[in-house]
Amino acid sequence: MNQPKCSRAGCTAEATALVVWRNPKIHTDGRTKTWLACAEHVDFLRDYLAARDFFLEVKPL
Ligand SMILES: [Zn+2]
Repeated sequence: MNQPKCSRAGCTAEATALVVWRNPKIHTDGRTKTWLACAEHVDFLRDYLAARDFFLEVKPL
């Protein structure tokens, strides 16, 4: 079984969390998108999405 890897560009660390987000202009039907994040990048990805009002939640893997 493959370990999921962090979605951050250039990062090959094992993902420890799922970052759930939605772009209200694109995902008008309530669908959500997810990124995988390692412990180091979960805050970066959350802040990136929060700055754009896309952030929904972080779930542990
Ligand atoms: Zn990472």
